[in-house]
Amino acid sequence: MEHRARKRFGQNFLSDPNIIRKIVDAIRPQADDLVVEIGPGLGALTEPLLERLAHLHVVEIDRDLIARLHQRWSPERLTVHEGDALKFDFGALAADGRPLRVVGNLPYNISTPLLFHLAGFAERVGDMTFMLQKEVVMRMVAEPGSEEYGRLSVMLQYRFRMGRLFDVPPGAFRPAPKVTSSIVRMVPLPADALAAQDEALLGRVVAAAFGQRRKTLRNTLRDYLAEDDFAALGIDPGLRAERLAVADYVAIANHVARK
Ligand code: SAM
Repeated sequence: MEHRARKRFGQNFLSDPNIIRKIVDAIRPQADDLVVEIGPGLGALTEPLLERLAHLHVVEIDRDLIARLHQRWSPERLTVHEGDALKFDFGALAADGRPLRVVGNLPYNISTPLLFHLAGFAERVGDMTFMLQKEVVMRMVAEPGSEEYGRLSVMLQYRFRMGRLFDVPPGAFRPAPKVTSSIVRMVPLPADALAAQDEALLGRVVAAAFGQRRKTLRNTLRDYLAEDDFAALGIDPGLRAERLAVADYVAIANHVARK
């Protein structure tokens, strides 16, 4: 039976076989990998992934699609986790010690909160490969000084090395989205790479700095830093948020934590 794409679940199904092959080649699934696919939909990626994997986990919210997945694959091959990926405990899947590989053509309407949710499991993750709106991927990989550099860049680059692999045009999907998409790969940095003593505080500092990105740090961070704090950190309070590197934000958060 035809499935009518549901906008509220961000459903744009991949239909271009060359693009599908390119994505699965980029993921490079090995038979015994522990892989979870977010939003399998009609199985455009699920099927070629299962050609290479012994077993796959999927997380899907749409009941109609869940029923189709159960019909098509046995539980020995495919474990279907029914529900919202934003609330899913990805850490529980990595219980046997294998690093978790997370993949998916993500629902674009929840991409930012989903990336923040997934960042919380970085320690259990081997790598993540996602399709997202190109505009979001550009923000994820943006460097200091660029217009796209913001809270998403800092909070993800704090935990992951990221790379944009290739772009995918709207015509590769049914229905076609309005925007170009990109494939992004995320690999967690070693746990001690850039240690913030209090990660929630780091999040608050970064949110405050970028909350009013046209104002200077003297203004936006006044609840956290006085002039002598800026001096001790060697950071010019006349700068704007986009000029600071991820390491600067970690240094600020650690300075505030020690005060
Ligand atoms: N992987 C399929 C493909 O490439 O053709 C479908 C991709 S479609 C862009 C996004 C998928 O995520 C849909 O199957 C949708 O039902 C599912 N989805 C949307 N919101 C979700 C959520 N909160 N949790 C889990 N899955 C969700």
